[in-house]
Amino acid sequence: MTMKVAVIGGGIGGLCLAQGLKKEGIDVTVYERDRSRTDRLQGYRIHINPHGAQALEECLPPEAWEKFKASCGTGGNGFGFLDDQLRELLVLDPDPHHTHYSASRISLRQVLLHGLEEIEFDKRFERYEQNGDHITLHFTDGTTATCDVLVGADGANSAVRGQYLPHAERVDTGITAVAGKLFLDEDDDVRTWIPEKLAVRANSVIGPKDCGMFFAMHDGLGVTEADGALFDNTRPYLMWSYAAKDLEVHNGHDLREQIARRIRNWHPVYERIVRESHEEATSLWPIRTSVPVAPWAPSRVTLLGDAIHSMTPMRGIGANTALRDARHLYLALTRKDCDVVHAIGGYEERMREYGFAAVRDSLRSARQFAEGGAAARTMFKTVLRVVGAVPPVKRAMFRDHGVD
Ligand SMILES: Cc1cc2nc3c(=O)[nH]c(=O)nc-3n(C[C@H](O)[C@H](O)[C@H](O)COP(=O)(O)OP(=O)(O)OC[C@H]3O[C@@H](n4cnc5c(N)ncnc54)[C@H](O)[C@@H]3O)c2cc1C
Repeated sequence: MTMKVAVIGGGIGGLCLAQGLKKEGIDVTVYERDRSRTDRLQGYRIHINPHGAQALEECLPPEAWEKFKASCGTGGNGFGFLDDQLRELLVLDPDPHHTHYSASRISLRQVLLHGLEEIEFDKRFERYEQNGDHITLHFTDGTTATCDVLVGADGANSAVRGQYLPHAERVDTGITAVAGKLFLDEDDDVRTWIPEKLAVRANSVIGPKDCGMFFAMHDGLGVTEADGALFDNTRPYLMWSYAAKDLEVHNGHDLREQIARRIRNWHPVYERIVRESHEEATSLWPIRTSVPVAPWAPSRVTLLGDAIHSMTPMRGIGANTALRDARHLYLALTRKDCDVVHAIGGYEERMREYGFAAVRDSLRSARQFAEGGAAARTMFKTVLRVVGAVPPVKRAMFRDHGVD
């Protein structure tokens, strides 16, 4: 089928989809509100799971996929649950069947933009008009464009969703997180006092009640290329976050100090990490989530990624789910056995199932992490210890969901 696809949003999902469609010779254009390829580059790391990796491998040109792998560290050192006194409750071993990657967001963006000329920057989508099979796009600069299929990949505050599914809501969870970075290259001493269990794997710390912490090591593994095509200025750091329901902190004051005071009865190393972090790298995050919506009749307009199923960051699966969507939509739009609306309907049916399941899972994890009184916490810790002691139960409860 000959068609023109417009993708609103050149983020992780939109760019991956565009790369896949371009590979198949489909006429695709990405419209991105940022002014250039390097606007708003954020230097934090992102964990790419087997679903995300499968999408990247299938959609990217082979040389870009190789660059991606070269720019990553493996993110597969397992995952631990600790208590507030730094005692191990449960350790999940690395997944032996699939490779996980620890990607710099900057390098990932560069890889996704590799060889992609079909992108127009400084184009902020405003609304669309549909006339039969043709769609006209309107941008805030007064210009228009046309397409046969419109994909809203414009993130959590999607303007495409706002018009297409106005009843789809995003709500506050009532949970607030404070996140910070302890840079590891500041002085030689830092690595000597960070406990090995925090250095070798990501860990969730179950607080005594109504709060939790998360730690993940990001050991500067990005690459720099002489031609500037790939670069990464990420310094090595230990990332931490503290989350709680109804957290009362004041953004104008030193956030580290406010969190340090809250954890003063925990193992002293947690407080030291917080106090020795950089004030400018510490930020406040109100945690929001989308509310799953009932199925809708498919059309030539569709959505992917955070635009339809934004979720809490507590499971680290938002980007991976956006990439998974990109792959499924790319496969749907290249189908030759049915018309495009039917193909989009098939994509949406599947995407709603795993996408909204991810929204629910991540909300459950957020509540488990940041809520729960002392009794619930004690019970949860006991469950983790018991599960950790019985390998078959541990495998069953935390099995990897693999690839599609
Ligand atoms: C600190 C942090 C850490 C995270 N870590 C992980 C992790 O480890 N693993 C993971 O899987 N997920 C992680 N996530 C979540 C992940 O970043 C998102 O789920 C993911 O970026 C969603 O991809 P997307 O393509 O749907 O949207 P986005 O990446 O948000 O892209 C949307 C794009 O649309 C553009 N846009 C918006 N509005 C318009 C408009 N009107 N017109 C034109 N363009 C527009 C934006 O500029 C942007 O480029 C993390 C998130 C945060 C904040």
